[in-house]
Amino acid sequence: MGSRCEDHWQWDFHVTAIILLDNPELMQEAMELMEILGGICPTVGAVDSIKWWPSTEGCFTVKSCCSLMRVRHLEEEVEANKLAAIKWVWEAAVPSKIKVFGWRFFLNRLPSKDQLVRRNILHREEDKMCVMCSGEYEDLVHLSFLCPFAKNVWIMIGLWLDIMLDVSVAGHLHLAHFLQVLKGRIKRKKLCLIWLTTVWVIWNSRNNIIFNNSPLVLDDVITSIKSVSWIWLSVGSSKSPFISFYSWYQAPLEALKYV
Ligand SMILES: [Zn+2]
Repeated sequence: MGSRCEDHWQWDFHVTAIILLDNPELMQEAMELMEILGGICPTVGAVDSIKWWPSTEGCFTVKSCCSLMRVRHLEEEVEANKLAAIKWVWEAAVPSKIKVFGWRFFLNRLPSKDQLVRRNILHREEDKMCVMCSGEYEDLVHLSFLCPFAKNVWIMIGLWLDIMLDVSVAGHLHLAHFLQVLKGRIKRKKLCLIWLTTVWVIWNSRNNIIFNNSPLVLDDVITSIKSVSWIWLSVGSSKSPFISFYSWYQAPLEALKYV
């Protein structure tokens, strides 16, 4: 896979340029691999081991992953306001797996149908459609904000929070809009929790339709958003006893004043 060349290691993957030029995705992956391996020189005679190099301890942490994404690879590629949204996700009072979900969401790395089409996994027209409305091709922006079902979810969440959300706003701008409408009323990390919970529950509802053939019921989705957000707030709170689910369900912003 390579050889020492003066004071550095010369990698050789035995892949010809002709193969790469015929396959743009392989080309992209090869370029990313070369970038990752660019500064690495194997030690002859050493035993192979797995190490998460962005962390000084060699162990994976969510924080080091966030730093890697923000500093090393993304700053040139991701626009500034999307980076701000990624930062808000990092600060949100949600479990780590939801932060990772949020980053993948903003970076368009979830396996939505448009991504599967791009990778030649889906071909038939009917397979590309949104399962929640069957009226548009599925991508994350449509699924989470512009689909009629998603709009109804956000309208209901707005009623619950006693705010008016602009349902024409989508993507990372939607998070900024959500935070702006509620600015000064409760802490941002808790607002981000509600926003991320909503997007996550919509994504899971979509998955349940596809993989479990589950029905899509608006009231069930809203109840799930209220329940999951209450659980995550409870887990992250040092207050005991925590606010009752009934208080949270009825008047969330009022209830949060006591958390
Ligand atoms: Zn739809």
